[in-house]
Amino acid sequence: MHVYVHVPFCASKCRYCAFHSRAGAADRDFRDFVRLLPREIALRRSSGGASSRSLGTLDTLYVGGGTPSLLGPDRVFALLDGVLRLYPLRAPGAEVTVEANPADVTPALAAALSAAGVSRVSIGAQSFSERTLRWLGRRHGAAETREAVATLRAAGVPRISLDLIAAVPGEPRGSFAESLREAVALEPDHVSVYPLSIEPGTPLAREGVRPPADEESLAAVSLAEDYLGARGYARYELSNYARPGAECRHNRAVWLGEDYAGFGPAAHSRDGLERRANVPDFAAWRAALETGSAPPAAVESVSPEDDETERFLTRVRLARWSLPNPESPAGRRRAAVLAGLAREGIVRLASPSGGAADDSGGAAEPLWALTARGREVADSVMSALV
Ligand code: SF4
Repeated sequence: MHVYVHVPFCASKCRYCAFHSRAGAADRDFRDFVRLLPREIALRRSSGGASSRSLGTLDTLYVGGGTPSLLGPDRVFALLDGVLRLYPLRAPGAEVTVEANPADVTPALAAALSAAGVSRVSIGAQSFSERTLRWLGRRHGAAETREAVATLRAAGVPRISLDLIAAVPGEPRGSFAESLREAVALEPDHVSVYPLSIEPGTPLAREGVRPPADEESLAAVSLAEDYLGARGYARYELSNYARPGAECRHNRAVWLGEDYAGFGPAAHSRDGLERRANVPDFAAWRAALETGSAPPAAVESVSPEDDETERFLTRVRLARWSLPNPESPAGRRRAAVLAGLAREGIVRLASPSGGAADDSGGAAEPLWALTARGREVADSVMSALV
């Protein structure tokens, strides 16, 4: 089982951010969130619906947001403890990830994460240029990222991931390359690189900032792939790079189409044919749980065909993937589409007979991969396969 917890608080809003999080929350809000989260899990567990079926032991836990590290050492420990009491880890090696803002990482926070059994910390570094960090509205500097990595390592956190934002408009030429160099110098196990997107409703969108041109984003991603690839970080997903064995197992499971349960405001869940999206409203989430009700959510049941398509499409983001149910009508149609895309140099057969390197769950089916050109037009490939 894979569990995601959404912590809906940030100290301040970054100018590009479209995630659900509230800036300026009071201490009481943090306290209530940590107190009520186990209640949501218990209520969903006892509901008897699809949401309760798959609640068992955990393979991966991912605590994101928002800014989980903003809760501070005691509350982060209590949050993890509360979840892990209800969901024992399947094995000692199960993956527990917590996202952190570099500005929050103190020795006490790092010790709390380590004591709670956190195996990965994903740090929102975003850039090592002070100018870019200010432009993005980040509340930390590059020095704090370096310190955060050292502090987490000293506390014994096994794995570190760094997030970077590429193709920031107006960034001086070479600045992103320098951020890549600085990031790799910290020897993280994992690096995520996302080109900046201007989402509706964000401060950048309101200010009329234009999104980076496609060529700019593609050039930055290509630079990242070359630089990171030459230093031992394989591009195992369109935006994610890892040293061997250090892929994010939680996200990989989601991309492979596995079920997951999400808790907290705005968290999504997939369980069989059921899809649940908690309403992105902390006040409503708290009010419902205080009265013993499950938090408000949009719940729908999808058709088996839509379910299969959704689970398959995210696989295409991975380095190698197989076609599910190749003998079904949809499977045969997709095989024909892939053959056409292969002729155009958009996809390639990575392994005709499957094998141990299968990123899509170990099937003995042929493994496909996007080519370099295919990675540039991945969205169109997914549309063609629907
Ligand atoms: S820290 Fe993350 S979630 Fe919070 S405002 Fe910034 S980008 Fe959004």
